[in-house]
Amino acid sequence: MGAGDRRKKRRRWKRKCITAFLIIFLFITAGAALARSLSAFFELNAETRGYAPEENEAPVQAEEALRYDSKETEEYENDMPEVMEVNMAENVTAERVSSTEIRIMWNRISDTSPAEGGQYVIMRKGSSANVKSDEWEEIGAVKASDESNDSSGEFGYDYVFTDLLASSEPVQYQYRIDARTNGQVCYKGTEESVAVASNVLICIDPGHYKGASEVPGENMYGYEEGIFTLRVGLALREELAKHGIASYLTRETDRITLAGYTNGTLDRGHISLRGEYAAGSNLFFSIHTNANNDNVNGCDTWQQPLEINKTLVIVNETAGRNEEMIAIANEIGQAVAKASYQLGLSYTDQFERVDSNSVRPWTSDYNDSLNVKGTVCSRLGTDGDYYGVLRGAANVGVPGMIVEHGHHTVEEVRKQAMTGKLDTIWARADAEGIVKGLGFE
Ligand SMILES: [Zn+2]
Repeated sequence: MGAGDRRKKRRRWKRKCITAFLIIFLFITAGAALARSLSAFFELNAETRGYAPEENEAPVQAEEALRYDSKETEEYENDMPEVMEVNMAENVTAERVSSTEIRIMWNRISDTSPAEGGQYVIMRKGSSANVKSDEWEEIGAVKASDESNDSSGEFGYDYVFTDLLASSEPVQYQYRIDARTNGQVCYKGTEESVAVASNVLICIDPGHYKGASEVPGENMYGYEEGIFTLRVGLALREELAKHGIASYLTRETDRITLAGYTNGTLDRGHISLRGEYAAGSNLFFSIHTNANNDNVNGCDTWQQPLEINKTLVIVNETAGRNEEMIAIANEIGQAVAKASYQLGLSYTDQFERVDSNSVRPWTSDYNDSLNVKGTVCSRLGTDGDYYGVLRGAANVGVPGMIVEHGHHTVEEVRKQAMTGKLDTIWARADAEGIVKGLGFE
């Protein structure tokens, strides 16, 4: 859009406002006449209805409107400044800096930026259950000028503002940039320009690595747990970003290297490094698919019946004590179970919810039995959590969970994983569970 177009747009706005005003005035005048003719009727019925109209309610409104109308247009504009929905800033972005800081960034639109002496106004609205609000509130303002306040270009935006949160409790906010001239807000950002962000950070761990659980053979569809979990993990990062939730992965390729240990070397004796990589985050989220013991249910391991397929969320000790994390585990289990059922990968969409006092101890039935439902459980070893990755997360004080999305020992699961969209569908279910569990939108 060019400068000429913008001027035209503003003129059009003014014309629209004046037209709208005249229509409202005519409407009120007509309404007043109607009200007067009906007033007798209302007065007759007032007692029985328990409603008495305020004296001369409608005529007073008409007089008000007349008084405004008799003023000069300029006076009218001074009394009631127009607030237009126009983006005075573009590429509005918000991102987590720390558990108590969210950074809002935007670019100026050169020919529509606030006039000299104007300001950009940072508006915020809570969208998570604990800060939910229908109203926008002003949280700060930045002087508008041709100079960027990100003069070092550190963030690559013209303007930067940091929202300092009152606590590190997980919150989700929406941000909008308005503009103010002569001390009054005259432009507000449009709905489409709103940015969403939270102070939550999640460490996504796509289980294993390429080659760790490779099983060549017929009807395998090239399935490898370490390849499939990476696809789910990368899709999950994108899904979470849509809800303003920041995340990072323990690996973004087929291999994993942490503290100099790669793949098998990491597995042998240093596996807890994987969980410790979650230090400073809100949740360690390890993505897996399950396998059962050899030849149970009278079937070959790789040809297990559909009934065995279920979703299992295994929480570490830190998560097991935390109701919010249990809520997340419940919501993930439920969302994944439902998604699998809808894809024909399960006979039930049921998932057994728990609270922090009813987390089930893990038994081999969860892997092998045909009539056990998915649930949230914990598995303890001689020294804390049985699984090294969950122990690692607990070591650094981070709640952790392994999500066994389903059994890849079922042929249909392998097929949909490698030839269908199971990766994005399960990732979406994981994100839905995390979002719901946190009380986010
Ligand atoms: Zn696994």
